[in-house]
Amino acid sequence: MSDHAFATRAIHAGQAPDPLTGAIIPPIYQASTHVQDGIGGFREGYEYNRAGNPTRSALETQLAALEGGASALSFASGLAAEDALLRGIVKPGDHVLLGNDVYGGTYRLLTKVLAPWGVETTTVELGDADEIRQALRPETKIVWLETPSNPLLKIVDIAATAEIAHAAGAVVVVDNTFASPALQRPLALGADLVVHSTTKYLGGHSDVLGGAVVFGDDRFYDQVKFQQFAVGAVSAPLDAWLTTRGIKTLAVRVRQHSENAQAIAEWAAARPEFETVFYPGLASHPGHEIAARQMSGFGGMLSLALAAGPDAARAFAESTELFQLAESLGGVESLIGYPPDMTHASVRGTALAVPENVVRLSVGIEDVADLIADLEQGLARVSV
Ligand SMILES: *Cc1c(COP(=O)(O)O)cnc(C)c1O
Repeated sequence: MSDHAFATRAIHAGQAPDPLTGAIIPPIYQASTHVQDGIGGFREGYEYNRAGNPTRSALETQLAALEGGASALSFASGLAAEDALLRGIVKPGDHVLLGNDVYGGTYRLLTKVLAPWGVETTTVELGDADEIRQALRPETKIVWLETPSNPLLKIVDIAATAEIAHAAGAVVVVDNTFASPALQRPLALGADLVVHSTTKYLGGHSDVLGGAVVFGDDRFYDQVKFQQFAVGAVSAPLDAWLTTRGIKTLAVRVRQHSENAQAIAEWAAARPEFETVFYPGLASHPGHEIAARQMSGFGGMLSLALAAGPDAARAFAESTELFQLAESLGGVESLIGYPPDMTHASVRGTALAVPENVVRLSVGIEDVADLIADLEQGLARVSV
């Protein structure tokens, strides 16, 4: 599959028809165990399904092909994937360097779950090379970045950051959830590992939770796979299958998400009610040039700061209709959220806190004129 283009790989990698019946879609292997032909006589290597399941394998092959990786592992959620990755690589005494606006759940996992086990975390402004160099220690095992970031859509130069991190002997992990591999492939830019919440764009329909680790080479596979097997946060067969199905339309969906978000960003930039429009597709965005270089589109996420302040932001988030008020992102339907109280409540009062006048949009693939009309009526209702 590696000689085919992205959209082709998304549809065919790991998705060969069922050899027994010719069913064009590989079946959902809804089973917990596999019969052995004599003790240890495993068919295709499958035994107990915490260790492996054919539907999960099909998804893992597809995920590796999307990111241009050597292999992938599929988990029950994005955070389960992050947890297995971290515990597979870091040990007590090790240090992890994080961007200062990473996903709140990643920060919580490191500072609340792993910190008591002796893993130290520092957050830095990853756009500042000097700040990264100063924060790196001999114990720094991982430099973890997210670009575009959530919810302020900051852009980090993956190649430049990887160079600094590698010079200090650290492993580079990119959370590629926001861009998705349709727009950005961190392994080709120097990252060692990619993580995903497949709950978002990869699944794409807000109907399944999942996560993935994609490996650039063979160095870390065994230790992360061991964590997955020993702890057990695997994706269930139906969940893996739904994710596989979502991925097949990823390329067209993301194209439309990006087109709609660009139109909304341009509309919002011309409205005085918004003090700042955070969208990397706008030439005024500080990360625009880097994004244009390392991404093939700017994605479906954007945030808006309301000039009238926090109360107006809250009211606006509650005033739209097509943009439904909910956490999460990346589905075909548009969502609006108020990060300080919703997705980012866990980082309130920390260095990662989000400005209180910001709302976040996950722009869906509905008709964009309807979406803009909805935002307009929302503004009219809050009369900011
Ligand atoms: C949602 C999300 C996660 C966590 O994934 P879950 O599937 O909710 O566990 C991690 N990173 C980013 C950027 C996310 O948006």
